[in-house]
Amino acid sequence: MGKVDIKYTKLFINNEWVDAVSKKTFLTINPQDETVIAKVAEGDKADINKAVEAAVKAFHRYSEWRSLDASQRGRLLLKLADLMERDAKYLGELETLDNGKPVAQATGEATWSAQIIRYYAGKADKILGNTIPAAKYQMVSDGEVLTMTLKEPVGVCGQILPWNYPIPMFVWKIAPALAAGCTLVIKPAEQTPLTALAMAALIKEAGFPAGVVNVVPGYGPTAGAALTSHPKVDKIAFTGSTEVGRIIMKGASDVNLKRVTLELGGKSPLVVFNDADVEQAADIAHRACFANAGQCCAAGTRTFVQSGIYDRFVAKAAEIAKKRTVGNPWENVQQGPQIDAEMFNKVMGYINAGKKEGAKCIAGGDRLGTKGFFIQPTVFADVKDNMKIAREEIFGPVQSILKFETFDEVIDRANDSNYGLAAGVITKDIATALAFMKHIRAGSVWVNTYEIVTPQTPFGGFRESGIGREMGEDGILQYLENKTVSLSLPKKPR
Ligand code: NAD
Repeated sequence: MGKVDIKYTKLFINNEWVDAVSKKTFLTINPQDETVIAKVAEGDKADINKAVEAAVKAFHRYSEWRSLDASQRGRLLLKLADLMERDAKYLGELETLDNGKPVAQATGEATWSAQIIRYYAGKADKILGNTIPAAKYQMVSDGEVLTMTLKEPVGVCGQILPWNYPIPMFVWKIAPALAAGCTLVIKPAEQTPLTALAMAALIKEAGFPAGVVNVVPGYGPTAGAALTSHPKVDKIAFTGSTEVGRIIMKGASDVNLKRVTLELGGKSPLVVFNDADVEQAADIAHRACFANAGQCCAAGTRTFVQSGIYDRFVAKAAEIAKKRTVGNPWENVQQGPQIDAEMFNKVMGYINAGKKEGAKCIAGGDRLGTKGFFIQPTVFADVKDNMKIAREEIFGPVQSILKFETFDEVIDRANDSNYGLAAGVITKDIATALAFMKHIRAGSVWVNTYEIVTPQTPFGGFRESGIGREMGEDGILQYLENKTVSLSLPKKPR
């Protein structure tokens, strides 16, 4: 393991590094060996109030930020993307330390995130409204009317982040919001505050005016709740569990009526038909489920396999899982530890439930080693729809394989979930793929591949997987208000 310099552990408010008002700190833990990495300033209501005040000031109509040309906002974002690329190795290493993901993956996430910033940098000066054909202004006068729509920034936004992809999630939130011209207060997950603070330093270095971006680490029920219910916050964007998503939605309507976007959990189906190449399908299904140690909202955790290839597929799935390299994230491995003791225990609880409910454990099924939160890649076959492991989000390296016979049967079963984030289908038959795409209820559908998520493509869920979309054109629209302006047009000058 390399020695990673921890440069930032304080709150970032108004472009300054400050202690929490309470002077409290919390520990961030290395999931690889359970040691303390650093003490981080613990933000609470008083700090959120300070950060919101800074963001409100930065959003004032005559502020430096509001006076910038849209293209200048784009240039600041481009500079930030360059700085991220410059520091991608450092950001990746910091993430591996704090989150436990393999260092090559973490560095790749930093580089990929810079591309997302560039995509939105290009959008900053291309935010267009409409002109709407003149209508008769019959009620008041007989003149013509010209109507246009102006897209304006929503205002001060609170953004609450999860721990599974800390750098990409930070960027998914800030990039469209800054391109739109909003000001921000961000609360990173308590498990992974370090890269958000390192990003704050880059934001300052890039030259964003004070108060435009504020980062306040802290806990959900304190700092997160204070942000959600703050009367001067115009919008809350949240990524995390569906359970907390419900709390956010309630809190956001307590004292005002904030705009809310939610990216929540999932229990996504990946359906493999008889005509699939078994080796290739098992490989896609493996990656769909085990990427990021299974800590992925869109993970394909319900693998439905048609009966004709079921036995061969199950054998192959077990073989691939057993070969998965798990261990020291500073080495060339596919999987590091789970994020923390709580998630480790939760995932182990699901594995035990699967065994108890009669699913057949054909790979893994246990912890790995005695130190750190490592879990063996686990595969269950003969899983039934009503089992806990088939219904609830596990958020760990656990694949559930279910057998099906017909197209209609599998569509009904795949759609029988409160979630609707993503889905995949593997088939050589175009008609099957198209019919699947049409009938599945999910925000993203992947055909003969899985988890294609790009800056240009909207991402988000149906049903309890969320509200709104991030990325692509849709992503920036969530940070814009529509102002409709109607002008009376005299037929000729008086
Ligand atoms: P979580 O819901 O426990 O926490 C997410 C964030 O919410 C953290 O910053 C936490 O401090 C904060 N929070 C907790 N309680 C709060 C409260 N009462 N008020 C305000 N904020 C509060 O989720 P997690 O464990 O960090 O992340 C895992 C979950 O996130 C999974 O369910 C996963 O599916 C989901 N997720 C979804 C997406 C997506 O795009 N759909 C992406 C990543 C993760």
